[in-house]
Amino acid sequence: MTPLVAKTIWIIGCIGWFVIRLPHQRRSRKTPITSRVARARELMLLSISYSGLGIVPAIYVITGAPRFADYVFRPALAWAGALAFAGALYMFHRSHRDLGRSWSVTLEIRDRHRLITHGVYRLIRHPMYTAFWLWALAQALLLPNWFAGFAGLVGFGTLFFGRVAREERMMLDNFGEEYRAYMTRTYRIIPGVY
Ligand code: SAH
Repeated sequence: MTPLVAKTIWIIGCIGWFVIRLPHQRRSRKTPITSRVARARELMLLSISYSGLGIVPAIYVITGAPRFADYVFRPALAWAGALAFAGALYMFHRSHRDLGRSWSVTLEIRDRHRLITHGVYRLIRHPMYTAFWLWALAQALLLPNWFAGFAGLVGFGTLFFGRVAREERMMLDNFGEEYRAYMTRTYRIIPGVY
């Protein structure tokens, strides 16, 4: 494993991410929305997250900036990062497949929205966010630069902590007891832990 291979793995991971999401993005455009929560705030959080997971590391991978934040590359860390990225893509694919037409990029309730509690949603309520955390972790392990590496954890962390309680409130408002019962038997992102 060399720094160039690690950067290439990061690029391949991003392409994989895009390919997994594309069909869901297309379908979601055709699925009517019945209600939306805090749209402007959500778009702001999304742009912070995309900057940290996409724009900042892309600038680093292409130009090497900011060089002052470089540290010594360790192959073992990069291998762990590759593994984390594989896990992220797997969880991303599975959560998209299970959520189906209930998925939205922001906080929205769709026409005939179904509460999903099966598959990867059986033990945790936010498996897609687990996938994003794994992506952010992979980025920190693959890119030997404090700024570009950790930008994903900071960016996605801002989205996650700014959103998750609101999302659960929205689900409670729409699904009531059914979601409350689901909350009591599940964790947020790590089974048995949190
Ligand atoms: N937080 C989930 C879903 C992310 S997508 C995860 O991490 O896997 C965000 C949208 O998914 C929200 O707007 C909400 O409408 C929908 N959603 C979240 N949890 C859901 C569930 N259990 N069943 C159906 N829709 C859900």
